Amino acid sequence: MGREIRRVIPNWEHPRETAETARDPRAIGKFIPLYDYDYETHLAEWIDENSQWQRGEHPSQKGSGCKYYQDYAGDPTDPDMCRPKWSENEASWYQVYETVSEGTPVTPAFGTQQELIEYLVANGDFWDQKRRREGNCSMPCQPWSRDAAENFVKELPWMPSMIITNGKILSGSELAAFQGVLGSGIMTQQTEQAAQRRVATALIIGYQPSIELLTQEINEVAKRHIPDFHFLNDAVSTFWKCNKSPIGMCVFKLSERGLKTDCRYCHQPSERK
Ligand SMILES: [Zn+2]
Repeated sequence: MGREIRRVIPNWEHPRETAETARDPRAIGKFIPLYDYDYETHLAEWIDENSQWQRGEHPSQKGSGCKYYQDYAGDPTDPDMCRPKWSENEASWYQVYETVSEGTPVTPAFGTQQELIEYLVANGDFWDQKRRREGNCSMPCQPWSRDAAENFVKELPWMPSMIITNGKILSGSELAAFQGVLGSGIMTQQTEQAAQRRVATALIIGYQPSIELLTQEINEVAKRHIPDFHFLNDAVSTFWKCNKSPIGMCVFKLSERGLKTDCRYCHQPSERK
C-alpha cells in the first residue's frame, strides 16, 4: 500500500459516494477515489503529449513500439476520477492519501505539517485506526512513531508505507510510483538525494529474496549432478562455462569467509587473471 502527502485547499472535504453516484448502496458514504490532478490540466497535457507524438518528438516514443500516443499512454483520465482544479498557492493544506486506487484520504486535512504529524503520532492513519477497532493487528495498526511521522511528512512527499512501517520490500508498483517523483523537481536537492538513496536501498533489498530463491534453485540443479555439493562450500558460477565441470559451469570453492576461490574442476580463475 502506498501513501502520499497531497496538498489540498483549506478545509478540503474529499467527496464521498452519494445515493446518486454509488453503484452499490453499500458504497454510499465512502470516499470516491480521485487522482491528484484536475481534468482541465490533465487533458491539456495529454493533448500536448499527443501532438509531440504526432510530430515524432515525444521523449518516450523511440523504441516504444507504439504508433499512436494513445497506445502508449491510454485515453485521458475520466473527469470523474480527477479532483477539482486549484492552484498551487490555493493548495496550502496537507493530507495523507493512500494510492492503492487513484487515491482516497487516510487522514483529515491539516493547515500545517506539524498538525498532521501530531495527528499521525496520536492516531495513525484511518487504516491503522480501523484495524485497531477491529482488533486486526496482523498488519501495522499502531499510531506512528514520531520519527516515522516526521520523516514522512517533512522529508519525503511520497513514501511507500512498507518502508515506513518495517523498512522492508516495496512492490513494483509502489516503487514505480515512488520513482515517479524523483527528478521531478518537487523536492529540495537534499531531499531528492535522500529519496534517491532510499529507492536504491529498497531496490537492492527488494531483489534479495529473488536472488536467494534463484540461487537456491541453481544449487539444487548442481546438487543433482554433484552429490557432495554444499551451498556453504560451493558456489555455482552463472557466468563462467567449464568443460571439466559436470554441470558445464564453474563451481567455485568458497573460503571460510565466504569468498569465492578457484573452480573445483578447472581451478580457474587463477589462469584467467
Ligand atoms: Zn571451472
